[in-house]
Amino acid sequence: MSVAAVRTPVEYESRLQQYLYERSEEGRVVRVGEKEVSEQAAIVARYADLFSRGQLDGLRESAGTAEADERERLFRLCKTCEAGIVAAELAEREDELENAILAARVSYRGEELPLRAAQARLAVLPGYEDRKQLGELQSDMSARFNTDRLEVLRAGEELEAEVSEEPDAVRRNEEEKGISLEELERALAEASAAAEPAYQRLRDRWFERLLGPGREAVPASYHVSYMRRLSPLADTYTKERAVEVCLETLSRLGFDLRSQPNIRLDLDDRPQKSPRACVIASDPPRLVHLITRAQGGLHDYQAFMHEAGHALHYAGSNPSLPYTYRRLARDHALTEIYSYICEAITREPAWHAEHFGLSQEQAADNAEATRFMEVLFFRRYTAKLQFELDFWSRFPSDGGTPDGYSERLTGATGVWYRPEGFLADMDAGFYSADYLRAWIRAAQLRTFLVREVGDDWWRRTETGDRLRSLFREGTRPSSEEIAARIGFDPLDTGPLVSELSG
Ligand SMILES: [Zn+2]
Repeated sequence: MSVAAVRTPVEYESRLQQYLYERSEEGRVVRVGEKEVSEQAAIVARYADLFSRGQLDGLRESAGTAEADERERLFRLCKTCEAGIVAAELAEREDELENAILAARVSYRGEELPLRAAQARLAVLPGYEDRKQLGELQSDMSARFNTDRLEVLRAGEELEAEVSEEPDAVRRNEEEKGISLEELERALAEASAAAEPAYQRLRDRWFERLLGPGREAVPASYHVSYMRRLSPLADTYTKERAVEVCLETLSRLGFDLRSQPNIRLDLDDRPQKSPRACVIASDPPRLVHLITRAQGGLHDYQAFMHEAGHALHYAGSNPSLPYTYRRLARDHALTEIYSYICEAITREPAWHAEHFGLSQEQAADNAEATRFMEVLFFRRYTAKLQFELDFWSRFPSDGGTPDGYSERLTGATGVWYRPEGFLADMDAGFYSADYLRAWIRAAQLRTFLVREVGDDWWRRTETGDRLRSLFREGTRPSSEEIAARIGFDPLDTGPLVSELSG
């Protein structure tokens, strides 16, 4: 019997850095459409030594005897090792599923569209009936993969339960995030209810303006990405100006993305490129990719600002921090604060007036449209978290069902979400909870900035300076620690409710 070497935490961290670099780069080329076949499994196989039970035991042992700060770092390495053990066993099946989804085509009016291209097309199709038709085709095709998705999900859950030694999915995630998901859910449910009257007013007005009088009483989710683009206003928010305006907006904060060589911009349009913008932190702060695919409409600007927040965060981390605190977090709740605060600039009426030559009144009107989408998404995510809590609580007895998905999301948004969408709409590890914590925190941070810097916080270099000093800490702090620094209780949703209610 051969015994694989067990690395010390320091050796482990350094080899992990190389591994994550390769996986990130592989994920990137597939995501941006430079490569049609995902080969993550080969990388996982090459680094199999990182993810052995023996190595996990070794790290756990070191964690058991470490001092507080070192213990946190080792906790993250242990969690990464656990996730790697799970990923190694699942990689082949996940690749297979991913490749099948990449190969799927939707026949639409004589065209054979890849699923992602169909999804991207939905955002730009002007006709209500056309979107409905393509949306149904796209989601019928997507639903065909549900059996495979559920199998991969079950296999992953079984492995995670075993490797982490915590069989309860909700408790396991709470431990990793260091919060109570139930308390979070309660605070969010109250905030969502408090924003309901404002949402109803906004919905009546903006459904009419964005979808027209011929819409159904409860339009389907196929129209959401079209609404999010604010398509009727697309002449104002053109595809061509998106990058220039966003770079200018960031330069007001004192961030010059063009002269920051560690942030690589990929703004090209390719047929297989995912329409969702993203940041891939391949090796922060040395190498961070910011990837967007402009389609026209305000959402391009919002997505760019959002991802720029992530990119600046990773690229702004102190290079002398241990790798763990530049790349690994317990969850995504911290980095999403920075993406949200950058994106929040696109909801400032004066930003619309300044960059698009609008009158005060027009600018206020367009900013209201962005608030409408914001409330819609906040209520959607709260409903998603509620569904996911139910889903995982029931999971041991029913193996995962769509029960409640459509009801909860449709009830919260007034947009119909079909039940079969529940798996494609679910991100691993309660990512919805991380987004929602960032929603609360970014509103707190904005309130803090308005108080400390002024109403025009969004065009002052002082804001950039304050953000820069937060970015330097890398991925070390929790979202809740940031709340304490800016003087808020972590679950204080007051700033968020008042922002959503206008
Ligand atoms: Zn994000």
